[in-house]
Amino acid sequence: MAYSDDLKNGKWQQKRLQIMQRDKFKCLSCRSENKLTVHHLYYKHGLKPWEYADNSLVTLCENCHNEIHDKHAELAGNLAFEMLTGFSLEDLVELESLFAEANFKKH
Ligand SMILES: [Zn+2]
Ligand SMILES: [Zn+2]
Repeated sequence: MAYSDDLKNGKWQQKRLQIMQRDKFKCLSCRSENKLTVHHLYYKHGLKPWEYADNSLVTLCENCHNEIHDKHAELAGNLAFEMLTGFSLEDLVELESLFAEANFKKH
Protein backbone atom coordinates (compact mmCIF):
# COMPACT_ATOMS: atom_id res chain seq x y z
CA MET A 1 0.00 0.00 0.00
CA ALA A 2 1.29 3.45 -0.86
CA TYR A 3 2.17 5.80 1.97
CA SER A 4 -0.48 8.31 0.89
CA ASP A 5 -3.10 5.54 1.14
CA ASP A 6 -1.87 4.72 4.63
CA LEU A 7 -2.50 8.31 5.65
CA LYS A 8 -6.16 7.96 4.68
CA ASN A 9 -6.44 4.86 6.83
CA GLY A 10 -8.82 5.12 9.80
CA LYS A 11 -6.10 3.99 12.21
CA TRP A 12 -3.94 6.94 11.27
CA GLN A 13 -6.88 9.36 11.49
CA GLN A 14 -7.48 8.07 15.01
CA LYS A 15 -3.80 8.31 16.00
CA ARG A 16 -3.61 11.79 14.53
CA LEU A 17 -6.58 12.93 16.59
CA GLN A 18 -5.05 11.39 19.70
CA ILE A 19 -1.79 13.32 19.18
CA MET A 20 -3.64 16.58 18.51
CA GLN A 21 -5.70 16.07 21.67
CA ARG A 22 -2.51 15.46 23.67
CA ASP A 23 -1.07 18.70 22.25
CA LYS A 24 -4.38 20.52 22.95
CA PHE A 25 -4.95 21.30 19.26
CA LYS A 26 -2.07 23.76 19.20
CA CYS A 27 1.14 23.89 17.20
CA LEU A 28 3.95 22.80 19.54
CA SER A 29 6.27 25.33 17.99
CA CYS A 30 4.26 28.58 17.71
CA ARG A 31 0.99 27.70 19.53
CA SER A 32 -1.08 28.48 16.45
CA GLU A 33 -4.38 26.64 16.13
CA ASN A 34 -4.60 27.01 12.35
CA LYS A 35 -4.09 24.28 9.78
CA LEU A 36 -2.73 21.70 12.18
CA THR A 37 -0.92 18.65 11.03
CA VAL A 38 0.80 15.76 12.83
CA HIS A 39 4.45 15.40 12.00
CA HIS A 40 6.66 12.32 12.42
CA LEU A 41 9.98 13.18 14.05
CA TYR A 42 11.58 10.27 12.26
CA TYR A 43 10.65 7.65 9.71
CA LYS A 44 11.43 4.00 10.02
CA HIS A 45 11.25 1.75 7.02
CA GLY A 46 8.29 -0.62 7.14
CA LEU A 47 6.42 1.09 9.96
CA LYS A 48 2.86 2.25 9.26
CA PRO A 49 2.20 5.89 10.21
CA TRP A 50 0.03 4.83 13.18
CA GLU A 51 2.60 2.32 14.49
CA TYR A 52 4.97 4.99 15.75
CA ALA A 53 5.32 5.77 19.45
CA ASP A 54 3.35 8.82 20.60
CA ASN A 55 6.57 10.62 21.49
CA SER A 56 7.71 10.48 17.89
CA LEU A 57 4.66 12.44 16.74
CA VAL A 58 4.08 16.15 17.23
CA THR A 59 1.33 18.60 16.31
CA LEU A 60 2.50 21.46 14.11
CA CYS A 61 0.77 24.16 12.09
CA GLU A 62 1.29 24.23 8.35
CA ASN A 63 3.92 27.02 8.52
CA CYS A 64 6.08 25.38 11.17
CA HIS A 65 5.61 22.03 9.49
CA ASN A 66 6.96 23.31 6.19
CA GLU A 67 9.82 24.99 7.99
CA ILE A 68 10.77 21.88 9.93
CA HIS A 69 10.71 19.81 6.76
CA ASP A 70 13.07 22.21 5.01
CA LYS A 71 15.45 22.12 7.98
CA HIS A 72 15.19 18.38 8.43
CA ALA A 73 15.84 17.72 4.77
CA GLU A 74 18.94 19.86 4.93
CA LEU A 75 20.23 18.34 8.18
CA ALA A 76 19.44 14.80 7.12
CA GLY A 77 21.09 15.39 3.77
CA ASN A 78 24.25 16.74 5.38
CA LEU A 79 24.36 13.94 7.90
CA ALA A 80 23.83 11.23 5.30
CA PHE A 81 26.52 12.77 3.18
CA GLU A 82 29.00 12.78 6.06
CA MET A 83 28.18 9.22 6.97
CA LEU A 84 28.56 8.02 3.42
CA THR A 85 31.81 9.78 2.78
CA GLY A 86 33.36 9.47 6.24
CA PHE A 87 34.48 13.08 5.94
CA SER A 88 33.11 16.05 7.78
CA LEU A 89 31.78 18.87 5.61
CA GLU A 90 34.68 21.07 6.72
CA ASP A 91 37.13 18.41 5.51
CA LEU A 92 35.38 18.31 2.18
CA VAL A 93 35.42 22.06 1.75
CA GLU A 94 39.14 21.99 2.51
CA LEU A 95 39.74 19.13 0.09
CA GLU A 96 37.81 20.95 -2.55
CA SER A 97 39.83 24.12 -2.16
CA LEU A 98 43.10 22.11 -2.22
CA PHE A 99 41.90 20.41 -5.33
CA ALA A 100 40.92 23.68 -6.95
CA GLU A 101 44.32 25.10 -6.06
CA ALA A 102 46.09 22.06 -7.53
CA ASN A 103 44.07 22.39 -10.71
CA PHE A 104 44.81 26.05 -10.90
CA LYS A 105 48.57 25.47 -10.64
CA LYS A 106 48.46 22.88 -13.40
CA HIS A 107 47.12 25.35 -15.91
ZN1 LIG B 1 3.34 26.68 14.19
ZN1 LIG C 1 6.08 16.24 8.62
